Amino acid sequence: MDDKVKDLLDKIRGAADLAADAAADTARVAGRRAGQMVDVAKLNVQLFDLNGEFNDILRQLGQVMYDTHLGRAGDADSVTALLEKADAAAARVAEVKGRIADLRQTQACPSCGAPCGKEDKFCRQCGAALE
Ligand SMILES: [Zn+2]
Repeated sequence: MDDKVKDLLDKIRGAADLAADAAADTARVAGRRAGQMVDVAKLNVQLFDLNGEFNDILRQLGQVMYDTHLGRAGDADSVTALLEKADAAAARVAEVKGRIADLRQTQACPSCGAPCGKEDKFCRQCGAALE
């Protein structure tokens, strides 16, 4: 075979290998992004359920408060139990929000809750200092 033709074929083969590597890298990154999106979607479902749970606890606490207002005997133990449940639910909500923020490379403003970039020093919404 002609040396020039051989060189050309080697170059073409090399270029094809590079293109295949690049395509594989792209596929890997896309796969990872898709995986993260699935994780975020699952966490959002979890967050929705947790928020519902939390709101239900708050509703029950409101009911106890209103019953007390009406002069019906309020059960102090049930109030304590409900407050403990509320604390636990709020902690789980914060944890899931943190995991979503990590996956999205964002952080929630501690003041107004707006999503901000991981590297931001101040909130884009309200200007509060971020950690
Ligand atoms: Zn803010």
